[in-house]
Amino acid sequence: IDFIQALQLEGNQEKKDEEKISEYQKARLTIEETKKSLPVFPFRDALIEAIRNYQILIVEGETGSGKTTQIPQYLHEAGFTDDGKKIGCTQPRRVAAMSVAARVAQEMNVKLGNEVGYSIRFEDCTSDRTVIKYMTDGTLHREFLSEPDLASYSVMIIDEAHERTLHTDILFGLVKDITRFRPDLKLLISSATLDAEKFSTFFDDAPIFRIPGRRFPVNIYYTKAPEADYIDACVVTVLQIHATQPLGDILVFLTGQEEIETCVEMLQERTKRIGKKLKELIILPVYANLPTDMQAKIFEPTPEGARKVVLATNIAETSLTIDNIIYVIDPGFAKQNNFNSKTGMESLMVVPISKASANQRAGRAGRVAAGKCFRLYTAWAYKHELEDNTVPEIQRINLGNAVLTLKALGINDLIHFDFLDPPPHETLVLALEQLYALGALNHHGELTKAGRRMAEFPTDPMLAKMLLASEKYKCSEEIVSIAAMLSVNSSVFYRPKDKIIHADTARKNFFHRHGDHLTIMNVYNQWADSDYSVQWCYENFIQYRSMKRARDVREQLVGLMERVEIDMVSSISDDTNIRKAITAGYFYHIAKFSKGGHYKTVKHNQTVMIHPNSALFEELPRWVIYHELVFTSKEFMRQVTEIESKWLLEVAPHYYKSKELEDSTNKKMPKTVGKSANNF
Ligand code: ADP
Ligand code: MG
Repeated sequence: IDFIQALQLEGNQEKKDEEKISEYQKARLTIEETKKSLPVFPFRDALIEAIRNYQILIVEGETGSGKTTQIPQYLHEAGFTDDGKKIGCTQPRRVAAMSVAARVAQEMNVKLGNEVGYSIRFEDCTSDRTVIKYMTDGTLHREFLSEPDLASYSVMIIDEAHERTLHTDILFGLVKDITRFRPDLKLLISSATLDAEKFSTFFDDAPIFRIPGRRFPVNIYYTKAPEADYIDACVVTVLQIHATQPLGDILVFLTGQEEIETCVEMLQERTKRIGKKLKELIILPVYANLPTDMQAKIFEPTPEGARKVVLATNIAETSLTIDNIIYVIDPGFAKQNNFNSKTGMESLMVVPISKASANQRAGRAGRVAAGKCFRLYTAWAYKHELEDNTVPEIQRINLGNAVLTLKALGINDLIHFDFLDPPPHETLVLALEQLYALGALNHHGELTKAGRRMAEFPTDPMLAKMLLASEKYKCSEEIVSIAAMLSVNSSVFYRPKDKIIHADTARKNFFHRHGDHLTIMNVYNQWADSDYSVQWCYENFIQYRSMKRARDVREQLVGLMERVEIDMVSSISDDTNIRKAITAGYFYHIAKFSKGGHYKTVKHNQTVMIHPNSALFEELPRWVIYHELVFTSKEFMRQVTEIESKWLLEVAPHYYKSKELEDSTNKKMPKTVGKSANNF
């Protein structure tokens, strides 16, 4: 890559810009001044009046205009919480919910968790005093189970509506319904982009309140040829900007924690090598599992004379606004969960972003001054290869979890549910079939007792089923630990570049001969034996933060087990029982050894492989169960455990037939299910 040529042509006229930016940096605004400087501020009174006049209002404004942080405060000040009711505001992402709540608490000068709080899966940081509550859309979806009329809220804000996550899409239907019988509830749908008309139409032509954006021009640069290694290209581009461009912070979009960590390491290494010749470069990561103190760092103002580079997932696309970004580097990819409704297989893949996303990303460079966006793809690719818009989640992911929650809410007729964009019929039917196979629905499509218990868990139905099955197999202690470790969602194994050999040896010490579920259970149990020690983690190359989170999640799960009346008992000496309980939940995820190190999934005959990090990578047992599929160069199974095929007949007799476990031929679901699914 070589942006330098293009940049040098533009030459020295930019010295002037540098002065402007550094002036901006110097002018450290107080909190009060910052609030007043936001684009939404002049519209405060008009906005409140519109909310008083209309029950439903669509609010549209550019990212960073102050919608998320300011509007709830305006409503609070205007008396919308005087009757003891709360203002709720949903966010599609955990980090955003936590981070904006922290910011608003700071602006209001209160302690986080008191008047201003947040609630995310497995973590509730609110109290009786809370009047402004940020939460993930998934959390609100589940709150309907305990409070179907949202009685404790006076205003509900469905924020970042343009993100069109599955939960947000379902919330649209649920909150719309509530406004009909709760005329006192105010509903705001807030969006960063141009979908406002569509939302307005859906919400019975609700008025649109537009907050005019301020955006400085952003110059866009493309590469001349496609980049083979975009991580390396990011690193080079950051250094080129740092060496040749006026001060101003850089935002780089990557797809996940691993990539971000690699990039951080590469940048640290290369800046160290360059030494004192360049100005200071402060390197900061942002991703979903980042601990809170690190999250706060990205918002700290850059010291004078230094430059900050923030490496973020697409959380920084619209959910979080980092001030002072002048340069954006966009490799053009994001991680996406994709579901194939023909095969019923779900996998996490890195995919090209849409034009709409690319433009959002570029826009992040133009908030405080004219900016520059470096796209690590060609202008041709932008024009011809990127889709216009990202497909809403509801049309591309597994609906099992959503369908189970809706059924638990008593919404039986899903075909006629009020969807903004309906999911494909096959996906809906498949979700119903899966829930039927898991025993959550009966053949009329009604929730069973087991289904009701499963719905108590804020997890994937398969994980919920595994937890329930631990009752029968008398291993709830172990299964809860495994479930907690699986929910942490990032590897607990720490693998620093300069100590890879030590780290891998340490990791292998935990390996269980039957696979990864038991391996992560080993890690958890040994850590617990060390009295949850930090030192132990350090010595064993284990990420303490992830373990701490797993411990919190475990505690929550134990509470939920109590609710569904499952006693905590241990079966540590019998791992067959533990593996059977896992199989009872994940019997959809079975693969059989085929040849050449390949596996074939049992129902659909797809070729998959054991992930190189797995304890079973070199073992290759005949039958395995996996937690998830990740698509990189190949379709990899992650978290793999050996099972015996006859267990499948024991845990899922209605789903597997003994013949199919011998020759793994393709079998359809029992006819009755397919037929009755149409009646749901
Ligand atoms: P919008 O929702 O319209 O995109 P926000 O309300 O999120 O806008 O952002 C308004 C301002 O608040 C931005 O300048 C942003 O940088 C700032 N902000 C948001 N969260 C934090 C935080 N945790 N710390 C510091 N500033 C923040
Ligand atoms: Mg926002």
